[in-house]
Amino acid sequence: MKTALITGANRGIGKEVARTLAKRGFRVVVAARDRKAAEETASALAEECGNREVVALELDVDRDVSIKAAADRFGDWGDSLEVLVNNAGIYPDEEKSLLDVTSEQFFQTLTTNALGPLLVTRFFRPYLEKSEVGGRVINVSSGLGQLCDMEDEAPTYSISKTALNAITRQLSSGLKSVGISVNSVCPGWVETDMGGSGAPRSVAEGADTIVWLADEAPTNLTGQFLRDRKSIPW
Ligand code: NAP
Repeated sequence: MKTALITGANRGIGKEVARTLAKRGFRVVVAARDRKAAEETASALAEECGNREVVALELDVDRDVSIKAAADRFGDWGDSLEVLVNNAGIYPDEEKSLLDVTSEQFFQTLTTNALGPLLVTRFFRPYLEKSEVGGRVINVSSGLGQLCDMEDEAPTYSISKTALNAITRQLSSGLKSVGISVNSVCPGWVETDMGGSGAPRSVAEGADTIVWLADEAPTNLTGQFLRDRKSIPW
């Protein structure tokens, strides 16, 4: 049985990825910063998907003590991890300009959206390395992080996703020799709390490329930025 851990899996795209992988027979670790939310989501998905191997894990990607504690706790359950989805994210500055955002906001967004995924990957790396089928790291990024099409819009969010994409490239290069792939995904504009009710994509459509990378993509696909299962420019 393959194991997948998804951060920010208590709602939105992360929850949909957890749901789909649970239906496909993965052992799913529902990670969320609020322990109760993780537990409620895990038990609801276990029942809905008929999969008793859906478990809850408290994990706040902003706090390295929380990430370390989560990695230690994960080790109580098993020793290998096939899929890590760095999904948790914040979108705090849609209407702002880079000329106005505060230093606090800048640091907060970079911490959650870029440094968090890096630290989670580092703490869970020993488990990913032990996967017999090759570990897969999927960083949920955004088209707003594309340098080829960047304007003064959602500035700290956009810059944090560009940084996340750079982290994808560096980790992909650094982990290739131990059989771990690392890719970035743009889910498109998706109807979630973050995307809003006017978004054109359903959560299932937003989750599709992430699930494909987790379960079906060639194991040698790494260091790419993908939308709709195809590479897109950085
Ligand atoms: P969402 O509905 O707002 O959900 C965000 C998730 O991230 C929640 O589970 C939230 O937990 C979690 N989170 C935030 N900060 C966290 C932290 N410090 N530690 C752990 N969890 C944390 O957003 P979404 O639309 O599903 O977005 C998921 C990912 O897709 C994000 O990385 C986002 O940038 C990306 N994305 C979304 C869209 C879109 O149109 N929706 C487009 C492009 C990219 P709480 O419930 O505790 O707040």
